Amino acid sequence: MRARRSTRGTVSAVGDGEALLGAAFLLQWVNELAFLVRDQRDYLTQLDAAIGDADHGINLDRGLTATVAKLQGMAEEAPGAILEAVGTAITFTVGGAAGPLYGSGFRGLGQALASKAQFGPEDLLVALRAGLEAIQKLGAAAVGDKTIVDAFVPALAAFERGLRAGEDLPAAATRARDAAEEGMRATVPLQARKGRASYLGPRSMGHQDPGATSTALLFLALERAALGADGPGGGRP
Ligand code: ADP
Ligand code: MG
Repeated sequence: MRARRSTRGTVSAVGDGEALLGAAFLLQWVNELAFLVRDQRDYLTQLDAAIGDADHGINLDRGLTATVAKLQGMAEEAPGAILEAVGTAITFTVGGAAGPLYGSGFRGLGQALASKAQFGPEDLLVALRAGLEAIQKLGAAAVGDKTIVDAFVPALAAFERGLRAGEDLPAAATRARDAAEEGMRATVPLQARKGRASYLGPRSMGHQDPGATSTALLFLALERAALGADGPGGGRP
């Protein structure tokens, strides 16, 4: 029994270390994300003021609040359907560049889970990979372009390394969050090659990318859901 620290039943342990996840886990993930973005809204907006148009935190907070409201009553739905609904809601309510990018990412996650009623960490890995592919298909950004992708790629790789090393979901998710934050910090010296910040050319250097920062929050939210944090924001120090 390796799944642990679950206080709300979002992760159930089923012997030999394979945690089974379902709708409750995903709702916890999205709720945690909305909470973290609300908490960090002004910071995200300040980062976007430096190299963009000062709307990233505002857009994400508005859109995620609307998304969480749309999820009311979806607890009985299939996980894939929930994530597709999250993606559609984000696309239509967040706006900016990040709305369609995160929206298609969540839709990609949902499509990968298809109609599974429950899923394990390996399925989550496959789904996260599909989410990243959807983001890159739409935005055509690679690592080093100073975008969402700079945090997502290392996080995904770290999550996979954790699972391959035999770690349980919370440990692998912690690794992923750590790698996302490292990727986020590594955007500081980069010159942006995609999105609005690229218009600044070399003047985009020396600033942390707002999208990579919100992606680090996405993986922090995932870690908290994996730890079975007790409600949005639960488990904070
Ligand atoms: P906008 O630039 O339209 O105001 P946001 O402020 O919501 O959009 O989001 C800006 C963030 O979007 C950037 O910090 C960057 O991380 C991300 N971004 C922009 N273009 C791309 C892209 N092509 N691929 C991935 N992420 C991108
Ligand atoms: Mg912006």
